[in-house]
Amino acid sequence: MKPFSLLTVAPELAAWLDANAEAIDAGQELAPAILPQIGRADLFRIGVPADAGGLDGTTVDAIEAIASVAGYSLAAAFVFWGQRTFIEYVLQSQNEALRARSLPTLLRGALAGATGLSNAMKYLSDIEPLQMKATPIDDANAPPRWTLNGSLPWITNLRREGFLAAAAFDHSDGAPPSIFAIPHDAPGVIRGDDLDLIALRSSNTAALTLDGAALDASWQIAANAPAFLACVRPAFLGLQCGMSIGLARRALIAVAGSSAATRAAVADEATQLARDLDALTERLFDGIQHGTFVHAPARLFEVRIGLAAVVDAAVRLEVLAAGGRGYLRGQGGAARRTREAAFVPIVTPSIVQLKNQLAQHRPTQAA
Ligand SMILES: Cc1cc2nc3c(=O)[nH]c(=O)nc-3n(C[C@H](O)[C@H](O)[C@H](O)COP(=O)(O)OP(=O)(O)OC[C@H]3O[C@@H](n4cnc5c(N)ncnc54)[C@H](O)[C@@H]3O)c2cc1C
Repeated sequence: MKPFSLLTVAPELAAWLDANAEAIDAGQELAPAILPQIGRADLFRIGVPADAGGLDGTTVDAIEAIASVAGYSLAAAFVFWGQRTFIEYVLQSQNEALRARSLPTLLRGALAGATGLSNAMKYLSDIEPLQMKATPIDDANAPPRWTLNGSLPWITNLRREGFLAAAAFDHSDGAPPSIFAIPHDAPGVIRGDDLDLIALRSSNTAALTLDGAALDASWQIAANAPAFLACVRPAFLGLQCGMSIGLARRALIAVAGSSAATRAAVADEATQLARDLDALTERLFDGIQHGTFVHAPARLFEVRIGLAAVVDAAVRLEVLAAGGRGYLRGQGGAARRTREAAFVPIVTPSIVQLKNQLAQHRPTQAA
């Protein structure tokens, strides 16, 4: 089996994640520390143009960076994903003023970017209506403003220290749905208590309610949400796949580190999983690099489904290889990775959702 390595994480960050992965997963004390730790290692700048304050590189480099962090802690990688995906929205937005005032603090990890767009993704797939509403404020003498109302049950990276959260809004005047960046300190913005999660507990995951918050166009990420989401979806989903790649690699590294007898018993499965993981990763990187997923999203959905299956099989193989030791707390991470892996199929777009969409797509393709 080809050995995987966990690259691109600076030694200080790697040591911090290694020492704290269990606490990050099981408790909430380290929630304030994750974003600044990743920011100090400059990982949010990867794949961001230098003239925008980044380190250049590509989205593939950013996916690799998320994968590396996921090898240590999926909770930290999910925070990373939220932040980096929000940065992608700001980069792809036409709103230059929003970019100029928010990007420097986002890239440093001093301000959290949260992406509450599961609802919008499900809306685009006809699964649920938009849960946020925008009503224009009638004032001919002032620039356009909207009153925003509604609630989203799950958003990660809602740092108590400050955040911008992206959410999509239905417009009462019949205008297309739009996406706003909601600042944490606007009147009428209410962050709920942290949700009582079974894992990833330091991820600052909570509900967000808007009760008459008033924002103007300077907070609008996109005036046409469906068109914008179609463009950012490859990055949204590709960066998310980084979490699966890193988690599966780490589980297979753990299998490779087990005793010779154990390794021999699971060698065939481990080798096949490593091959599948490599092939899916290559397909992902190729599609992202060549932009093919923008017009052929089904190919990206297949990669996401394939990676989720590899994660599931890899962590189960790690459980076999770890034996009783893996059932003890704090012994090498096998138990934690099992909990982390349970998140992979449910994060939007969920595996159920994607399988349904592919099934609907197939007759059209055949025709
Ligand atoms: C720890 C955690 C963190 C999260 N962080 C965020 C975040 O930062 N931002 C965010 O926006 N969301 C976030 N979510 C929400 C997440 O992305 C999913 O939207 C959510 O978990 C889906 O579950 P649900 O209970 O809403 O699904 P339900 O709506 O109850 O549906 C159950 C399952 O069936 C699928 N489904 C339902 N109806 C259909 C249909 N008609 N066709 C096809 N499939 C269908 C759904 O996709 C889902 O897989 C988070 C969730 C968790 C657990």
